[in-house]
Amino acid sequence: MTAFVLYKFKGKVFDYDFEKQTRDYKVHRTRFTFGGMSQEKAGLTIDSEKCIAYGACEKVCTFSAIIPDPQYRINSTRCDECGACYITCPVNAIIAKLPLDESERQKSGKQLRTYTQNHDH
Ligand code: SF4
Repeated sequence: MTAFVLYKFKGKVFDYDFEKQTRDYKVHRTRFTFGGMSQEKAGLTIDSEKCIAYGACEKVCTFSAIIPDPQYRINSTRCDECGACYITCPVNAIIAKLPLDESERQKSGKQLRTYTQNHDH
């Protein structure tokens, strides 16, 4: 028999409700730590200095994770870290913890900007 002790760890629990049967958002992510480990940072955040409150991120987020009031921010418990807001923001105000493909952001952001300008703005 091998005995072992977990003296520190961190993890996440995902509670999905894709059909929105019990609430009005799809995922509830709970982060936890034990033994003094630091909490994992959210995958994406909004730089309030760059944000112009254009609203494209809120429209593209199917996880209802973008909260526009009083300033645009990402609710990290709801965010699935899909990156859709990151590639959509016209002023690159979304900050990603992990480096994402910058050329993809430029390409997709341009297409989405054209689409939203022609349809909603
Ligand atoms: S990464 Fe995806 S789920 Fe998270 S806020 Fe952006 S669009 Fe919404």
